[in-house]
Formats: sequence, structure tokens, C-alpha cells
Amino acid sequence: MDVKSYHSESWRSILKVRDELLERTGNAANARAFLQSCIKQGKLQLSKVYDQFRQKGVKVRWVNAVWNRAVLPKHSSIVNLAMQRKLATIDQLNSRGLYLVNRCILCKAAVETHQHFFFQCPYDAAAWQSILQ
Ligand SMILES: [Zn+2]
Repeated sequence: MDVKSYHSESWRSILKVRDELLERTGNAANARAFLQSCIKQGKLQLSKVYDQFRQKGVKVRWVNAVWNRAVLPKHSSIVNLAMQRKLATIDQLNSRGLYLVNRCILCKAAVETHQHFFFQCPYDAAAWQSILQ
């Protein structure tokens, strides 16, 4: 079955996964064999299927500090983006075509870059001093 414009988004997603599975396994027989290997006690183990499809990156040293049960998921997400330098600082937004006045939102005295925002801003240093005390 080909994807049609009138198909629902959910059905398109299912067909997309089917096509990706066929591409990764080579043919329908291999795809069926893979799915059979993911069945345990009559139930499909979605974690095994998901593991096949997810992108696997290099494990970084800080992963356990950021992603653990003691940290709120929202905070983990923000720190994860910060550690990868993907947090939307003004210099990054400007490089994506949003032309904003580039001043640090905290101290208003310097250009807002990742380095300044997380390591050089005097406002951050004062906040950290206060937290550490
Ligand atoms: Zn600043």
C-alpha cells in the first residue's frame, strides 16, 4: 500500500515505520523475522522495536548526572540542550534568521552566547554563589 494524501497522519506514520523496517531489514521476510524476535510470551515488546529505530549516539560522560530520577524531566531536557550547546541563546537565534538585539537577558551588559550565559555572566555567578552558600 502506498501513502495517499487522504490517509490520516496516524496511518501515514504506520506506513512510514513499515517502509523503514523494510529498508533496514531488506525484505518482508526479514521484517517478519525481526518482529517475531520482538515477541515474548505472545506480546510484542515495543522497547525492542523502538530500540531498532531510535538513533544511537555516543554515550557522553554527563548522561547519568542529567538523566536520573532525582532531576525533574523538564530540567533534564534543558540541561541536555545546554550541554549540547543547542539551547536557543540569542546568538543562535540570530544565526537561524531571527534578528534580535543581542544582549544577555540577565545582565544586559554582554552579548548572549552559550559561553556567556552559562559560564561568564556575573548574574549567574552571583546566583551560584548564593546557592552554594
Ligand atoms: Zn549576562
